Amino acid sequence: MDAIGIAIFTVLGAVIASFLNVCIDRLPARQSIISPPSHCPFCRHRLAVKDLVPILSYLALRGRCRYCRAAIPRRILWLEIANAALFGYLYSQYGASAELAVIASYCCLFIVIMVIDLEQGLIPNRIVYPAMIAAVIVSVFLPGLAVVPGIKYAAIGGGIGFGLALLVAVLSRGGMGFGDVKMAALMGLVIGYPMIFFTLILSAIIGGVVALVLLITKKKKRREGIPFGPILSIATIVTLLWGGSILNWYLGLF
Ligand SMILES: [Zn+2]
Repeated sequence: MDAIGIAIFTVLGAVIASFLNVCIDRLPARQSIISPPSHCPFCRHRLAVKDLVPILSYLALRGRCRYCRAAIPRRILWLEIANAALFGYLYSQYGASAELAVIASYCCLFIVIMVIDLEQGLIPNRIVYPAMIAAVIVSVFLPGLAVVPGIKYAAIGGGIGFGLALLVAVLSRGGMGFGDVKMAALMGLVIGYPMIFFTLILSAIIGGVVALVLLITKKKKRREGIPFGPILSIATIVTLLWGGSILNWYLGLF
């Protein structure tokens, strides 16, 4: 195994996670992700390079701003660690390839959507619409890759995701919002037909387990909605990483 490649990609994953954290903080608020430069949201002090080293800065500062001692959200650290592990894993599976670039980009996209919806309960159009266009472009220009459906299958997948989610939204009378419907269309474009069915079934299973756990732990009452965005995101990422393997294993049971 290419240990140096994995190490480089693990570090790259942590660095990119720092950028994803900026996207998560700024995109829903309609702020630019480029300017102003990184600053503490509490005291607005501009952050130096030593404050911005992924994982290490957070640990060295014990999760507090160097200038005003305000607590930095834990999510900053967890995302950097998780994304570092994810990128190292992806490199070990795909090596230096176009597949790696595409699947890593898609994972980052759905991680950002997941965290924003978890924290703020919304799925911003200014992420979903450009992502749809990007997915179409990827399908048109890179249809030969294992993780990319051809444009025809992407279009059918997008239609199925949109149609079925719209049906659920109408039947559940607001239990599922229109943001989730657009999200399902995006998933279909990325995953394509027929695997989008696998992703949607997986979403339903994960959603059922989450609903059950929330009910048992009494975190939510029966009538309250559950966050579909994070569930759809996790199902999409699992499909991208292991969808084919899980399906083969399942079909092998019979
Ligand atoms: Zn501060």
